[in-house]
Amino acid sequence: MTVLASGSKGNSTVIASAQTRVLVDAGLSCRELMKRMKMAGEDPCALDAILITHEHVDHVAGLSVLARKLRIPVYFSEPTHRAWMRQMTPRTTMTYAKWLDHVQKEKEARAAQEAVETIDPVGAPFMTASSSWVGGSPIALQLAASADPQEDDIPEVAAKRDPASLPAVEYFQPGTSFRIGDLTIAPFTTPHDAADPCGFVFESATESVRMAIATDLGYVPPNVRAALQRIDVLLLESNHDLEMLKDGPYPWAVKQRVLSRVGHLSNHATAEFLARDYDGSATYIVLGHLSETNNVPELALLAAEEAIRERGKLLGNRVLLAHQAEPLASICL
Ligand SMILES: [Zn+2]
Ligand SMILES: [Zn+2]
Repeated sequence: MTVLASGSKGNSTVIASAQTRVLVDAGLSCRELMKRMKMAGEDPCALDAILITHEHVDHVAGLSVLARKLRIPVYFSEPTHRAWMRQMTPRTTMTYAKWLDHVQKEKEARAAQEAVETIDPVGAPFMTASSSWVGGSPIALQLAASADPQEDDIPEVAAKRDPASLPAVEYFQPGTSFRIGDLTIAPFTTPHDAADPCGFVFESATESVRMAIATDLGYVPPNVRAALQRIDVLLLESNHDLEMLKDGPYPWAVKQRVLSRVGHLSNHATAEFLARDYDGSATYIVLGHLSETNNVPELALLAAEEAIRERGKLLGNRVLLAHQAEPLASICL
């Protein structure tokens, strides 16, 4: 596991087995992700796929550009893909006056079209219902359509026409495992305010190592507790310090969102999970998705280490901190 970035401003992690390499989330610009992979000794060209946990911008900021550059498939759940596409489609907004003007012009165009059709009955049989609505001739429409496939072959052109275009999209369903190369991936649903958010457990059969990513969750429900059993390397959220968040600069509405059951795990909630519900099997616990505004790395570390210490007999379980500004050294088992 190589955490390239973790925090409220961007998340991305490489998970690699002997034969397979995947990137989980692409929450920094493509350029920055490439730079971080280089810093961490990861070859971007060796990536087999990109997996997306959810559509929030701190997880997808560089996704489309990176996927097109590397020409690799992107794995989403279907609702997440749809939500991401909606996000990527530029919306045109119109003032009411402009809209009225637009409607008027359309009316005039339609009237002119109808006038032509009545004057020139010979031309009428060639007019289809749809062509009179869009106002173009059938021949022009056909030409435009035939130009599409060639243009789409050039990724930059395709991207300009459709910013959500990707080399290939694969769907998974949280709760159902799938394979990429020699990695078995088990996505699990997380409680978070996105379309269909999830975390992942990765298992390499050849190395019998299990790694998991669980960030962006408001609390730890039973299905997440169950998924995080027998994990060797666990990237776990420790987003905020409760007091810092309450006294901090965020507007009340945002504070409520973060604190809610579909927000983020506090240091306290993470510690509670580690002390009560965690099975203690990890060699490394990596604390991630720390808020720069409402947390201090030392506080997150202290809370988690105390929780582990309370468990007394837990050996291993080294607690590390993932960073926002730089990659964490690769964790190899
Ligand atoms: Zn999120
Ligand atoms: Zn996030």
